[in-house]
Amino acid sequence: MKTFNKIAILLFIIVAYSSINAQTAYTLPELGYGYSALEPYIDSSTMYIHLNKHHAAYVKNLNDAIKGTDAEKLGMNDLLKDISKYSTVVRNNAGGHYNHSLFWKNLTPQVNTQASPRLQKALLETFGSMDSLKTLLNKAAISQFGSGWAWLVVTPEKKLVVCATPNQDNPMMDIAPIKGTPIIAIDVWEHAYYLKYQNKRADYLNSIWNILNWNEISQRYETIVPKGKFDDWPALKDFHKVMSQTFHPSEDGNLTPIKTRIGEMVTVASLLKQSTIPAEFNRKEVVDAVAQLEKDSKKLQKQIQAGASDDSIKKSLSNLHDVFHHIVGLCSNEDH
Ligand code: MN
Repeated sequence: MKTFNKIAILLFIIVAYSSINAQTAYTLPELGYGYSALEPYIDSSTMYIHLNKHHAAYVKNLNDAIKGTDAEKLGMNDLLKDISKYSTVVRNNAGGHYNHSLFWKNLTPQVNTQASPRLQKALLETFGSMDSLKTLLNKAAISQFGSGWAWLVVTPEKKLVVCATPNQDNPMMDIAPIKGTPIIAIDVWEHAYYLKYQNKRADYLNSIWNILNWNEISQRYETIVPKGKFDDWPALKDFHKVMSQTFHPSEDGNLTPIKTRIGEMVTVASLLKQSTIPAEFNRKEVVDAVAQLEKDSKKLQKQIQAGASDDSIKKSLSNLHDVFHHIVGLCSNEDH
């Protein structure tokens, strides 16, 4: 009995130890909705086969391919980042697992969900309208010759870009021509649509827009592009824009920007003074400094209109710049 206990404890330690050191094998995710939940846009058979045959094969093949290799200890993101160092089998199956896992989450039985206000704003600024995003993304998907994926990607510069990749490649891979983190993945392999749509890829693509999960897509965007500290105070950002575009050239001796844009600077300073200061920044010092900023902007305008020397204009602008940064400093002081 005693020996048995010792062996049991030893076995337990070995099992526990090896489970700490070995990366858990990749597993097939849950859909989060039923196979028929996306009908009539995607049929139940397609969903069942797509997950349990195609995606399951990528998971199995990936686990088999990396077993006992260094890749086994890496997380998915690190593996994709250096995918050029690995075999085609690892590349195809790691991509296959990552891409499909994202694809399932990008879809929802809830029809016509909406992008968050911040994502909507970014999409409008980048693409002009939701319709032109749809046109661009569908065009990328249709133009992808053979099997592949179409993407909406957030680049490392936080820009939104539409692109497509062949096979199971994706924008997380070092071999991708456009790199970034995808927030929308659209599978354009025939296995994604052939049962219902046969060769009509365009019909499948139009259909899928009804069931894109904009809540999920927005959440991804918000995580990659977190809200800035001064997003609640757009008037401060507007002032900053004019300030940086006039002050920095003046440091290099170019006073043309401030001379031509002083009227604009007075306007944004006045708008800033009239703006509602977000509660988290609303203190007497901030209110006073904002009033000072408007006063000094007007003073500089008078100076410029009176034909003051470049040196005195430069000095006043520099003082104004200090007042602006004093405000930023006051709003960044966590101790208050
Ligand atoms: Mn697929």
